[in-house]
Amino acid sequence: MTDCLFCKIVAREIEAEIVLETERALAFRDINPQAPTHVLVVPKAHHADAAALAEADDGLADDVLKAAHAVAVQEGVAPGGYRIVFNTGAGAGQTVFHVHAHVLGGRDLTWPPG
Ligand code: 5GP
Ligand code: ZN
Repeated sequence: MTDCLFCKIVAREIEAEIVLETERALAFRDINPQAPTHVLVVPKAHHADAAALAEADDGLADDVLKAAHAVAVQEGVAPGGYRIVFNTGAGAGQTVFHVHAHVLGGRDLTWPPG
């Protein structure tokens, strides 16, 4: 998609600190981290939100979840616990409409989230 920030990161048109790349997913550090580890995992293909990703029906959601877990392992936060968040829709705080999993860890995470 031409005017999508995360499509541009996938295309390397905008810089990001990439931490993991798989065939169909890309993981890069959030520009405004909310935890010591805060990585965004996106499918390379454009889908607006988690609902669209769930409907993709080609195993892509699986790939994104597996990449998110691989990031947690790579970042060393898996043993202590981490959180995978998909803000879905503006009312839930989604601001970039290319689906992304937030992988958060490295500090105590309160529940419920705000
Ligand atoms: P959302 O609010 O849609 O769930 O999450 C969007 C996330 O993208 C935010 O945490 C925000 O900090 C991050 N973000 C926004 N612009 C950029 C950018 O240009 N580069 C990177 N790496 N992260 C960004
Ligand atoms: Zn996109």
